[in-house]
Amino acid sequence: MSSDHKTDPEDTSKLLQRIKVLENQLEEIRLQTNVLLDIARALNASLDPKVIATNIISAIACLISIDQASVCLFNEKTQTFEVIGVFDSRTISPQIPSNLDLSFLSQVLSNGVTYYCPPGNRTQNWEWICCLPLQNAQHKTGTINIHSIRQPEITPEQMRFLETVAGHATSALENALLYAIVERESITDGLTGVYNHRYFQKRLREYISLCQRHKRSVTFGLLMIDVDNFKHFNDRYGHQFGDTVLKTIVRELRNNLREEDLIARYGGEEFVILIPEATEKIVLFISEKIRQVVEKTQVLNPATDSYVSVTISIGVTLWHPSDSPSIVISRADQALYQAKTTGRNQSIYK
Ligand code: GH3
Ligand code: MG
Ligand code: MG
Repeated sequence: MSSDHKTDPEDTSKLLQRIKVLENQLEEIRLQTNVLLDIARALNASLDPKVIATNIISAIACLISIDQASVCLFNEKTQTFEVIGVFDSRTISPQIPSNLDLSFLSQVLSNGVTYYCPPGNRTQNWEWICCLPLQNAQHKTGTINIHSIRQPEITPEQMRFLETVAGHATSALENALLYAIVERESITDGLTGVYNHRYFQKRLREYISLCQRHKRSVTFGLLMIDVDNFKHFNDRYGHQFGDTVLKTIVRELRNNLREEDLIARYGGEEFVILIPEATEKIVLFISEKIRQVVEKTQVLNPATDSYVSVTISIGVTLWHPSDSPSIVISRADQALYQAKTTGRNQSIYK
């Protein structure tokens, strides 16, 4: 078989040109895919929302000449926005102006579509040029905001890229927020919301090594609290009301201690408090203060429509150099035992 098929050189040249264009397009797509893969990897590499926000802004800066951008987280409970990342090409410590009205972003989130207003001749600083909602079927997570660009507009292709970045950013931030919840739950007591026994043990060891490293003789206080006759209380009023009373005691402890004092549920109806940089006078003062507050607290029992109160006994001690965790705990325990056996509703120091 023979073929007398002749090829027109002009056609061949056109075809070659076409192949070249397609090859270039393919290369462009390959590059973009690699950039997106890198971005997805970078965004998922951290579980810290602030690091993720910085990575989001860096990813956008790879493709668009941005001058000012920010990333906001949305708190669904309080319906408020928090700025977690800011970029301003003119400074290394950028800040969003305090009078910037973040409530504008609520509209973006409720519309669920990208807001885009090409930069005009407006001179207003931190204007909203482009806001991308970060949301999925379950949650509204936040927004990516571009406030100023060094190019006349954002092209449709760049917009597609931004929206893909927003998709990856949403999953990365969602993962980070979920991780934070799991992490918090693993160290807190489900009933009262204070730290749990395991976390207390970890922090106690940290307090000890911190004091051991300190040159001056700095120490900390340990209070071991136990609710008086709580078994009778439960038997009389029921466990559910008992739970309410435990929560009320914790509320009073929180209201009457400083931010730096650590409260934990040791077990059952027992709580421990770590008081940094304490003296005997300070720990006894704090102990007596909270004992009196609890004694005066009245809790409404809805079943009988009457007020009920409980008392607590407290074993008080200070950490002594060379005390192991179990020795300092056992001294507080002995003090508590003495408080129980000599009348309850009192603080004993050992
Ligand atoms: P004492 O003054 O000697 O401490 O007497 P007590 O009755 O408080 O001591 P005991 O150790 O005999 O009883 C503790 C009770 O605390 C038993 C248990 O029913 C109650 N309790 C422990 N954990 C919880 C809890 O989570 N909720 C409720 N409602 N009760 C609890
Ligand atoms: Mg007990
Ligand atoms: Mg008790």
